[in-house]
Amino acid sequence: MAKFIPLSTPVFDGEEKENILNAINAGKLATSGEFIEGFEEAIQQRHQGIHAAVMNSGTSAIHLALKLLGVGKGDEVLCQSLTFCATANPIAYLGASPVFVDSETETWNICPETLSNAINDRISRGKKPKAIIAVDLFGMPAKYDVLNQISKTYTIPLIEDSAEAMGSSLKGKLCGTFGEFGIFSFNGNKIITTGGGGALLSSNQERIEKAKYLSVQARENYKYYVHKEVGFNYRMNNMSAAIGLAQIGKLDYKIERRRTVYQNYVDLLKNIDGITFLDEPNGFYSNRWLSAILIDKIKTGFSNEELRLALLDQNIESRYLWKPLHTQPSFKESLFYSNGVSEDLFDKGLCLPSSEDLIISDQERIVKVIIGLRNK
Ligand SMILES: *Cc1c(COP(=O)(O)O)cnc(C)c1O
Repeated sequence: MAKFIPLSTPVFDGEEKENILNAINAGKLATSGEFIEGFEEAIQQRHQGIHAAVMNSGTSAIHLALKLLGVGKGDEVLCQSLTFCATANPIAYLGASPVFVDSETETWNICPETLSNAINDRISRGKKPKAIIAVDLFGMPAKYDVLNQISKTYTIPLIEDSAEAMGSSLKGKLCGTFGEFGIFSFNGNKIITTGGGGALLSSNQERIEKAKYLSVQARENYKYYVHKEVGFNYRMNNMSAAIGLAQIGKLDYKIERRRTVYQNYVDLLKNIDGITFLDEPNGFYSNRWLSAILIDKIKTGFSNEELRLALLDQNIESRYLWKPLHTQPSFKESLFYSNGVSEDLFDKGLCLPSSEDLIISDQERIVKVIIGLRNK
């Protein structure tokens, strides 16, 4: 059997091990310790004017963002449909309802026009949404110039789910810093990982301090345990932060590698009619966390599913784009403002292996399967 090529794997060197050993030797494994502060500082240094609180997952960070914006029972939150379920699940945790919004074709993210229509329609029904969640899918920033304008015009706060887009930017401004809150994920296969983990970002220091407080069970500084409100067990632990601090120092290299992997696919597949990529619009810079293609079945003669199976047959992992959340059984009761784009992308899309240590001969092996399928 040919060597297995995974979709995306984390890469470590000696630094992660050394940091973990230091955390163990210091006897600090839980939710206090120098690596937690160090990791937060490193995130803040990369994102000027931003405060960061590290959490045990990106999902936790989204939950706290919504909570701090006052989202509660019976509220509605506008949410990009083409995304991982973690973007919307915290809306449900709070007893609120997601209202899903379709994508546009230039970034695959939330469509500003459809969003405006959705807001106007919800307001006309007496249900002004409490927040908007936009996602930077596969590392591509959403259209924040327009989205921020909409957020201002209607005074509805924007949350940026930048779980997949650490290091990406729009007109030089880093992802995670648009909107009132930004979030990152450091889950196992994200561009940097802490095993499991996330971060909540905001330019508002008070809100970040509040998030830290809520993330340790809202424990008061007192001689015995006193809690004035119901908190969460969401803080990142010092061992995860030890890994995170080692990883973030290599983020620029990781992005460079992922962008090279993406460009190699573009170069190797550019003459294949019916396969297209997500180009960066002017001013957009993607970390290219995952390289995704769209397949026009009429032109290529094969579908995304046929390609997925052909790759699997050669021991190569690929994956569908996120299945739009408005089509998920778990959200079957939810409202959806549609323009057809997200379902079309799901029907045509496939994510190809994108690890930073993917070597060119393996990419050629992948491309050979694609080309072979076309000639059948
Ligand atoms: C990974 C991810 C999250 C959060 O993930 P966690 O596993 O909770 O860290 C949220 N949104 C998107 C789009 C993601 O890809």
